[in-house]
This record gives sequence, C-alpha cells and structure tokens, in this order.
Amino acid sequence: MNIRIGNGYDIHRLGTGRPLILGGINIPHELGLLGHSDADVLVHAMMDAMLGALSLGDIGHYFPPTDDRWKGADSLDLLAQVDRLIKDKGWQIGNIDSTIIAERPKLKPYLPQMRDRLSAILKIEGDRIGIKATTNEKLGPTGREEGIAAYAVVLLTRS
Ligand code: MG
Repeated sequence: MNIRIGNGYDIHRLGTGRPLILGGINIPHELGLLGHSDADVLVHAMMDAMLGALSLGDIGHYFPPTDDRWKGADSLDLLAQVDRLIKDKGWQIGNIDSTIIAERPKLKPYLPQMRDRLSAILKIEGDRIGIKATTNEKLGPTGREEGIAAYAVVLLTRS
C-alpha cells in the first residue's frame, strides 16, 4: 500500500514568562506555552501524525522530556528530524491538515507565516499544509485559557 494516514494531538499549559511559539512563529501574547522544549503544540501534533502513519510510536519516544538534549529544543529542528526519518523509510508527505484550539490570541493573522515556515522546513508547497485556528467557545481547559491544543492529520505517500 502506497498511502498511509496518521493523526496527532497535543496540548500544553499556558503560563507566564514564556514565549508563545506556534508553527515555528513567535506570537506576541502575555502568556506562553510551558514545556520541556519550546512547547510548539502544532508542530508536536504534526510530528506525532507523521510517526503514527508509519507506526513509529510518538515524539515522546524519540525526544523524551527526561533527556536534557531536548531542553528548550526548537520544535522545527525536531520536525526536520522526523521528516528525515520518514524520507529515509521511502515516504513523503502528501498533505497535512491541522487545527489549533486557542481562545486567545487571535491566530488568523499568523497562519500564513506558520504555513510558509513549515513549507520551508518540510520542503513541500504551502498548499499541502492546512493550518486552521478555532476557539473552544470558552469551554473546557482551552476555553478557559489554561492551555492551547492542536490536532493534525497527515497523508504519507510512497512512489
Ligand atoms: Mg508537546
């Protein structure tokens, strides 16, 4: 079979004294995401989708939070490593679709920059990377601004 599908999900807590980085873009906000790495939930969900499509486990396996090598890691560097892994196994990304769930700030103005950044890292056209943002209508932990979550689906192809 020459196509595979994968899905990924991630959520990180919001806190003070941290930058808010989503899709590799630093977004002005009074709160940032807490985590061992830069806590880029969107990129983390995408990596888990890529790994899941090939039954390779999850990012916690490759970049464990207990390992100081990944402390403060730029998630785009980790994404490039996961991309290398799937390419080494003969697969490439057909397309990615994703959704960020954040009550605030408004992310729409930053979505094209995120797409361009990810397009450059993954070396695929921007129209193969879907990034959407929605609020959670003030419901649940994302709605209360306790955290930001992201979902991603990826299709991998092999020629
Ligand atoms: Mg994460």
